[in-house]
Amino acid sequence: MFYAFKIFFDFHSSIVNLKSSFGVNPFVKRFLDFFLPPACSLCGRAGAELVEGAICFNCRKLLFPIHPPLCPHCGRPFAAGDSHPCSRCMERMPNYDFARAGGLYRNAMITAIHSLKYRERIHLAKDLAGWTLQQCEDYWFLPKADMLIPVPLHPRRLKERGFNQSLLIGRVLSEKLSIPCNPFILIRAIDTPPQVGLSEEKRRMNVRGAFEISRKKESLVAGKTLLLVDDVMTTGATVEECARTLKNSGAEKVYVLTIARVE
Ligand SMILES: [Zn+2]
Ligand SMILES: [Zn+2]
Repeated sequence: MFYAFKIFFDFHSSIVNLKSSFGVNPFVKRFLDFFLPPACSLCGRAGAELVEGAICFNCRKLLFPIHPPLCPHCGRPFAAGDSHPCSRCMERMPNYDFARAGGLYRNAMITAIHSLKYRERIHLAKDLAGWTLQQCEDYWFLPKADMLIPVPLHPRRLKERGFNQSLLIGRVLSEKLSIPCNPFILIRAIDTPPQVGLSEEKRRMNVRGAFEISRKKESLVAGKTLLLVDDVMTTGATVEECARTLKNSGAEKVYVLTIARVE
């Protein structure tokens, strides 16, 4: 029974992916909707209140938005009190100017990010980016940027996965925020080992020098305010290294926006 449901859910998600990614003919879409009505991206339940591929009310309740009090620099949330710089930022200011995330990397958020990255539920990029911007409207302010830059994958990793989740998220944010998205400026020159299980210091060392600016693209970032986009921020080592690289090429300010952050 479980496997029958799984096969149906996998098939259904493939159709949702297909419908949302390629903008199928309206007639074909109505036909598909009739037999396979829009279902929640996370739990798979079909419902009248759902728009295509959206996250249902029940699953939304399992996402934990990040809201003040938080660190004004890195966006680390506090359990109580007023917003103030966190001890980590007091000790060493990050290379970026400002970082915010939509929600905590726990519960349904982990499922959602894993489904997007490892199970190719690419329609989740749209839902999660929309949800994150909703948290921005409700809880904090996102300063205006000139250009949006997704955190790049190394070409070998990109070939393996077939897509860069940060670019998928970035494209949605770019459209909603009316900021141009340029995935060709920042490149990942070194395929570093995974960061999982490494300490904060080791993570920083691991990604040191991993990013470069494409040849002759420095002029595109010089003096600009950039919005760096990624799916999850753990210790911030990756986005810090990206920000360092962009600032070395003359970027004026680098803001960071992620869907989730580890507590
Ligand atoms: Zn659901
Ligand atoms: Zn901080």
